[in-house]
Amino acid sequence: MKFKVAILPGDGIGPEVMDAAVAIMETLAQEYQVALEVSSHLVGGASIDEYDSPLIDDTLQACYDSDAVLLGSIGGPRWEGLPHDKKPERALLGLREALGLYSNLRPAKVYPAMVEASSLKPEFVRDTDLVVVRELTGGIYFGEPRGYDAQQGWNTLIYNREEVERIARVAFDLAGRRRGQVTSVDKANVLESSQFWREVVHEVQGDYPDVTLKDLYVDNATMQLVRQPSQFDVILTQNMFGDILSDAAAMVTGSLGMLPSASLGEHYALYEPVHGSAPDIAGQNMANPLAMIASVGMMFGTTCNLPQAEQILDKAIEITLADGFRTADIVAEQGEPVSTTEMRDRIAESLRRLMEEKRITASPA
Ligand code: NAD
Repeated sequence: MKFKVAILPGDGIGPEVMDAAVAIMETLAQEYQVALEVSSHLVGGASIDEYDSPLIDDTLQACYDSDAVLLGSIGGPRWEGLPHDKKPERALLGLREALGLYSNLRPAKVYPAMVEASSLKPEFVRDTDLVVVRELTGGIYFGEPRGYDAQQGWNTLIYNREEVERIARVAFDLAGRRRGQVTSVDKANVLESSQFWREVVHEVQGDYPDVTLKDLYVDNATMQLVRQPSQFDVILTQNMFGDILSDAAAMVTGSLGMLPSASLGEHYALYEPVHGSAPDIAGQNMANPLAMIASVGMMFGTTCNLPQAEQILDKAIEITLADGFRTADIVAEQGEPVSTTEMRDRIAESLRRLMEEKRITASPA
């Protein structure tokens, strides 16, 4: 299989974590016979420094020409004084808009070795492995009319059938590759737009007889998320509820440096860590590369349609953590942190070990 990836390392720790992720991507590609074609481009502050723009047409074209985009992180104090439309972060919005990325997938997984890192009690977070599927380009953040005057402020929450159907399909497809449960989160007891959302989601479920569907009101869903997050598999929700729920779900895992994400559209896909450019630790080889590495895993599972590659990488992360290797952000009280590059090498080593075991098991005795 041929596969073109546009690499946008960006700013701060972006290039450091990207370097680690690309090494892992190459190891996986070799194992699963994917012929990678990789091109690297400046974005964000790095692009401003070189081209006076956070996202130039050539970079965008490279994304259009690729099967997937891998993005590191964008921004930093150096560019903070720039006017709003010149800021590095404009590149993110520009990419999402230009690539038509209407769904955002944010997994929150608590690895057994990391149970203590959560701010919740271990017995409540153990076995948590969920994904929030958030609608990204519709709903109240974009609805018209909107505005405010001296007496009132107003926004419009509107979803049309096509928007709900396509995001519901993303959630059902994903659940079909996971544990087969979708929880659709809405506020159908108060909002007509949510009653409509609920009806359409149930219609779509008709095409997915193997996936179960449960509805939850957003207030109850929030409560359940902090009460017992392990009950969820895929949470499907609209833009604003997803914005809030995905951050809450992230905190359940307790470590920003480990959260990957995917943003998908009809034709394009972008994978990036949830964290920012972490200027406080940039250039020190101490960033946690696992969020970026796990984003590569999502790319293999989703765009390359090789879930076995995503699973083996996930297992490699799990055993590396269980072996006690941690970067400074997640190191246990008495532990010695490893560097970004050492974490990369440890994951690569775990991966090679798992692949070797797989070959031995697969070969006839
Ligand atoms: P941040 O995510 O960059 O950092 C928050 C804290 O988490 C910092 O202490 C940082 O050291 C730590 N951290 C983050 N990622 C880490 C990792 N992989 N390993 C170890 N520690 C990690 O958020 P911030 O400080 O609010 O923002 C810094 C810059 O990043 C700003 O310019 C902001 O606009 C930008 N930002 C970019 C994105 C993106 O590119 N998608 C997202 C959020 C923030």
